[in-house]
Amino acid sequence: GEVVLEARDLVKTFTTGRGGLGRTRVSSVDGISLSLRAGESLGIVGESGCGKSTLARMLVGLEVPDSGSIGYRGRDVTAARRGDRRLLRRGVQMVFQDPYTSLDPRMTVLEIVGEPLNASRTGTRAARRDRVAELLSLVGLAPGLMERYPHQFSGGQRQRIGIARALALEPDVLVCDEPVSALDVSVQAQVVNVLRDLQRRLGVTLLFIAHDLSVVRHVADRVGVMYLGRIAEIGPTATVYEAPAHPYTQALLSASPVVDRSRRGRMAARIVLDGDPPSPTSPPAGCRFHTRCRMARDDCRTDVPSLRRPSEAPERARLAACHHAEDALTRLEDVFGPA
Ligand code: SF4
Ligand code: MG
Repeated sequence: GEVVLEARDLVKTFTTGRGGLGRTRVSSVDGISLSLRAGESLGIVGESGCGKSTLARMLVGLEVPDSGSIGYRGRDVTAARRGDRRLLRRGVQMVFQDPYTSLDPRMTVLEIVGEPLNASRTGTRAARRDRVAELLSLVGLAPGLMERYPHQFSGGQRQRIGIARALALEPDVLVCDEPVSALDVSVQAQVVNVLRDLQRRLGVTLLFIAHDLSVVRHVADRVGVMYLGRIAEIGPTATVYEAPAHPYTQALLSASPVVDRSRRGRMAARIVLDGDPPSPTSPPAGCRFHTRCRMARDDCRTDVPSLRRPSEAPERARLAACHHAEDALTRLEDVFGPA
């Protein structure tokens, strides 16, 4: 498909603290480029604080990047003024993380889901009501529930309402920022299935953000792994899960229940990540992962690795930002156990 949404070299820094003293610059997103093709599903995974929500908010126009650009359907929408930005990016809508706080408790479902239609004065009142009924059906909720209030629904149902609202203006892209993290594990799969179903039935393009690789595995065609504001690795889902080339992806996968170790025979040794991620107020020089990477060498502490295709795997359309990705690929047995 054609490229619908494209980010180039996005950079975003926040300043924390009030007043002159104690102000700190926090690097949130530091040079991210990616493109979304019509109808595809891209998963973005990373620990909390890695900048994935900031990336999502820039893509939908809720934050303006310090530098870099965002293209929507071939048009540069980065510099638009606030009102124009919303109009230009009407086709890019957000599903928020927490369905308990993102829905106004004083509004009925009809008002919540119909709000984008009212705001854009789409159709008559009756037509808008029909459209809300249709949207609720799309996400698997009975239209008869539209006069109810959010507190009368479960978390999973509330997230379906959030998805219905995001779909109201017929976007081509849904940016979902950890849409199931606040839900019980037992209902997470249902909501993930709703999104996957919408991707298939409506052809909507998905950007699906999660902190855990297991959540996006079955919904993403491609996966990107973020670490401290940068993309560590990005490629087709099967490649990234079966042959991760970045030591950080390998560590995440080795700690994740998605790796089916029994299929491979013995249990693999888990790669333990040392310590917490460094503070984004003073990210490490060179490769930002070097303070936790067991393969780190001298060059890792000084030279920033750029995303490149490892030469050991020419058939795989995957990029990793690691100076030593070829070596990392030779130790996949540590992640998966012997083949
Ligand atoms: Fe580890 Fe060096 Fe690769 Fe960074 S560049 S992931 S520190 S081996
Ligand atoms: Mg977040």
